[in-house]
Amino acid sequence: MSLASTIHRYPLVATWSRRFVGPRFALAGDAAVGMHPVTAHGFNLGLASVEHLAQAAGDGWRRHGDPGDAALLARYQRRHRMSSAPMFAGTQLLLGVFTGPHAFLRSLRRMVMSAGSRVPALRRALAANLVDDGPRPASIARHLRVALNVLRPRIGSGRPHT
Ligand SMILES: Cc1cc2nc3c(=O)[nH]c(=O)nc-3n(C[C@H](O)[C@H](O)[C@H](O)COP(=O)(O)OP(=O)(O)OC[C@H]3O[C@@H](n4cnc5c(N)ncnc54)[C@H](O)[C@@H]3O)c2cc1C
Repeated sequence: MSLASTIHRYPLVATWSRRFVGPRFALAGDAAVGMHPVTAHGFNLGLASVEHLAQAAGDGWRRHGDPGDAALLARYQRRHRMSSAPMFAGTQLLLGVFTGPHAFLRSLRRMVMSAGSRVPALRRALAANLVDDGPRPASIARHLRVALNVLRPRIGSGRPHT
């Protein structure tokens, strides 16, 4: 491989829109929630937003003959905010820990990296939260359930996780 362009900085930022919906209007994907790529979740959240919006528009069409029904768009906004807020906040927190210049943050970083490499269950719990096997909202309860399910078989059993 050879370098084809000049080297330049690409600003990686996170964005959270104040409103996801307006009159007969909705934001989805990065336009609604632009995740910092550090946790590699932006595309997944974008798919979730489309799924939530399609459900709201479908319900609006069935109930009122209008996919742009204001109450159902507001429901989409609530649902997508609630399901993406934990991941967004967690990503921002992680980013703060991994980029902060303070000595305390540097030690915390080392501890987290070392825990991650020494406790495979933690890595599996995180990885399990990065994948999804079906269309459903990613609530805090769901993230906790997935993480506990991954951790549970190993507690006291000594059996490898499958
Ligand atoms: C470096 C990096 C790494 C990433 N890694 C991951 C990852 O590993 N896993 C993951 O899940 N996500 C990742 N993401 C996030 C993921 O790429 C985005 O969440 C996803 O592409 C968002 O899709 P989108 O369709 O909402 O927006 P976009 O993909 O940004 O599409 C928007 C489109 O609209 C066009 N556009 C903008 N303005 C106008 C206009 N005025 N008129 C017409 N067109 C316009 C743009 O050119 C663009 O093509 C990463 C992002 C970055 C930056």
